[in-house]
Amino acid sequence: MVHTFPMQQICANAWCKQSFESTDEDLAFYRKISPTFAGETFAIPPPTQCFSCRQARRLAYRNERHLYHRSCDLTRKDILSIYSPDKPTKVYEHSAWWSDKWDPLSYGRDFDFSRPFFEQFFELQTAVPRINVNNMDCENSDFCNFSVQNRNCYLLFGALENQDSFYSNRILYCKDCCDCSGIEKCELCYECNDSQRCYQCRDLQNCSHCTDCQLGYNLHSCKNCFGCVNLQNASFCIENVAYSEQEYKELLEKKLSSYEQERKNFQQRKLSAPRKYMDAINTEHCTGNAIINSKNALDCYEVMDLEDCRYLANATFMRDAYDTTHDDHSELVYEAIGSETNFMHLFCDICWYDRELLYCSMCFNSQNLFGCCGMRKSKYCILNKQYSKEEYEKLVAKIIKYMQETGEWGEFFPVCFSPFAYNETLAQEHSPLSKDAVEERGWNWKDEEDDMPDVEKVIEGSRLPADIAAIPDDILNWAIRCEVTQRPFRIMKQELAFYRKFHIPVPHLHPDERHRRRMVLRNPRKLWDRQCGKCSKEIRTSYAPERPEIVYCEDCYLKEVY
Ligand SMILES: [Zn+2]
Ligand SMILES: [Zn+2]
Repeated sequence: MVHTFPMQQICANAWCKQSFESTDEDLAFYRKISPTFAGETFAIPPPTQCFSCRQARRLAYRNERHLYHRSCDLTRKDILSIYSPDKPTKVYEHSAWWSDKWDPLSYGRDFDFSRPFFEQFFELQTAVPRINVNNMDCENSDFCNFSVQNRNCYLLFGALENQDSFYSNRILYCKDCCDCSGIEKCELCYECNDSQRCYQCRDLQNCSHCTDCQLGYNLHSCKNCFGCVNLQNASFCIENVAYSEQEYKELLEKKLSSYEQERKNFQQRKLSAPRKYMDAINTEHCTGNAIINSKNALDCYEVMDLEDCRYLANATFMRDAYDTTHDDHSELVYEAIGSETNFMHLFCDICWYDRELLYCSMCFNSQNLFGCCGMRKSKYCILNKQYSKEEYEKLVAKIIKYMQETGEWGEFFPVCFSPFAYNETLAQEHSPLSKDAVEERGWNWKDEEDDMPDVEKVIEGSRLPADIAAIPDDILNWAIRCEVTQRPFRIMKQELAFYRKFHIPVPHLHPDERHRRRMVLRNPRKLWDRQCGKCSKEIRTSYAPERPEIVYCEDCYLKEVY
């Protein structure tokens, strides 16, 4: 068959039918990662679904922020887990899972050539114990997930080496930060997003190296700025006007006394300043958004240090990878999620330090596995059953041929077999659906109900005084009802101390609602064609044409802003 490139395809999902392309380079990548078993190479076919559907299918396997109380199925201890107790999944607490008190090989089974692979894999995945939460080397930071080396932290999701920080996600090397998202090396920050190396700042977005700034967008190396956009090396500015230090202090006091109103005004102000069509620092031949230090990274979002990658999001230090989310330090990867330091890694979920794995979930320090769950330091296993190298290669070749017939080969695990309900996962954040739509597609939904906290009283969020000085310490014994979602939530002691220190009002909104509002500030993972707001040149951008922001091409942006 002769193709002309790029090859146009239609997404196989009946509810989508979006057209998408596979280029010559894409096909070369699929050839490069096509594995060889028993002397035969098995071509990875081009995808059958569009980028959004493929991403949602993977994200449906990642419950990042829903935690439940349940008991460990081995020790019977009460534990926190991302698997709710009503799920059939077997769950062990971290130390029990990593102990030798159980053997993943004892769950081994033969491949059945009369049933689909995914169905057999799902049964194995349900039977083999899973780790309650994905945390490593943390101290006093139980209410976290996908969290490594954190101390005294609470409700952090996707977090590395933080201290005394709360209610945040994608947060790295931070101290004393609260309600932030996508921040790195920050200290004493509140409500900051996609920012690096900021100190004592509040309500910043896309900023770096700033100190004592509030309500800022795209500020770099600024000090003492309030309500400013698109500034570099500025100080004592209010709404982009420079003042003397004395004038600034006087004006700032007035602004701070009506902070909530200023916050609303700033949302409008932000819209009047031009934006660059793509957020990128030190990139070469890249498309997507929020890309740092990368080369040949196409359709990538919120990534750093990539080379020759396409369709990645939330990934760092990756080479030769396609369709991967939440993956770091890996090479030759296709259709993977939640992975770390892998080589030749296809169709996997939460696998770390592995080589040549296909269709595996929660396997660590292993190589040459197919369709395995919960393996540690293993090789040549299929459905958790041990084989010799020769037997392994022969059987994998036979299984792939079978999967080519069933139409499963080349596809990631289907959403219906995820251990989570769709709305518990990041799929709901990036591709939100109603309960009806989820159930129509044969996927799982979980109705969320909050247990009413055992407290002295419940106070309406809308009735909380704006002045933190008017809040009694007693609030620690109450619950607050979110003024938008009506969900009850509580305040912690360290959190109250943080608000008092910075004269920040106690939040009126549930932590999940605060998270949702931060996510809305970020552009979607999608590109549109539109024109530069100044020279009308065609640009491809994550700002949809109907959005109100003024969007400029690279040249116009550089002329106007810097
Ligand atoms: Zn689609
Ligand atoms: Zn232009």
